[in-house]
Amino acid sequence: MSLPDFELARPSSLEAAVEALVRFGPEAQLVAGGTDLFPSMKQGLFSPRVLVDLKSVPALDGLHFDLEEGLAIGALTKISHLAASRHVAESFPVLAEAARGVASPLLRNMGTVGGNLCLDTRCLYYNQSEFWRGAIGGCLKKDGDVCHVAPGGRFCWAVFSGDLAPALMVLGAQAILTGPGGTREIPVSEFYVDDGIVRLAKDRKEILTGIRVPASSAGMRGTYKKYRIRRSIDYPLAAVAAAMSVAADGSCLQARVAVTAANPAPKLVPAAEGLAGKTFSAELVEHVAHEAIRTAKPLRTSSSTPEYRRQVVRIFVRRALRELWHDTSSAGHRAGSRGR
Ligand code: SF4
Repeated sequence: MSLPDFELARPSSLEAAVEALVRFGPEAQLVAGGTDLFPSMKQGLFSPRVLVDLKSVPALDGLHFDLEEGLAIGALTKISHLAASRHVAESFPVLAEAARGVASPLLRNMGTVGGNLCLDTRCLYYNQSEFWRGAIGGCLKKDGDVCHVAPGGRFCWAVFSGDLAPALMVLGAQAILTGPGGTREIPVSEFYVDDGIVRLAKDRKEILTGIRVPASSAGMRGTYKKYRIRRSIDYPLAAVAAAMSVAADGSCLQARVAVTAANPAPKLVPAAEGLAGKTFSAELVEHVAHEAIRTAKPLRTSSSTPEYRRQVVRIFVRRALRELWHDTSSAGHRAGSRGR
């Protein structure tokens, strides 16, 4: 499979990149690391006439920590840079662990934070060659009028499979978007739309330029647990991010849990926030683990069964909360994080 023909636009500033998106309209598509987009183009899933290459805008690259503003992550920051940052490991262990778990070293060296957050949704019937998809007549998401996962419905259940989004969600991070109308910020938890085709709550002329993690989340204990078929290089088939602050008397000050790779959007588990003010009990942990599988609704979009993925989510939430509450997570120990 080879790449289709396309023109490459290399804007030298963010303004020029937005202008290119406005000028070329639906014929244009953004690219950064290209680790997900180029294989998809080879499969005929996308055929943009113009690729707008954000790598020519170096201002979007880099990590910066400020005691008041928190951690600023440029959208072009390499995932390997995030994974290797000592400051991220010490202050935001859930984010460091999620970054270390993305794909493989080579892909982390090419892939960017923005690209991981804007990943296309995935499905067994969609991420296939053009020939394979043609044999089943396509599907709602591409070249067809039926969903093979839930026949009879008019909804796409393709799954969001990014690792960084749930980690940023449990840290209360904001996404920064710039478009023709200026710059705006929204919580990462509101950046996603629970629809496998629509996917992102941003206009196609807007660019995700960066992420801001609040300083108030620095020091939270955290862990990321990922189920995948190939440990050395794979998307998650179900994964859980969790962050918690614990008081000196052992009670929970704040807790957040998010699930990815189970729905068209990554999701916070609302029940986790109810742990604030409580002391540890196995029943409380079990309650949140049970609620998590009401949040995660995996269907037959991957090579693993929905039943197995639901149980994985339940077990991951149970393990994560127990580890964080008792501070026995490997991430917490590596980072020396005691929570706040
Ligand atoms: Fe296509 Fe249905 Fe899969 Fe969506 S969930 S990609 S519509 S088969």
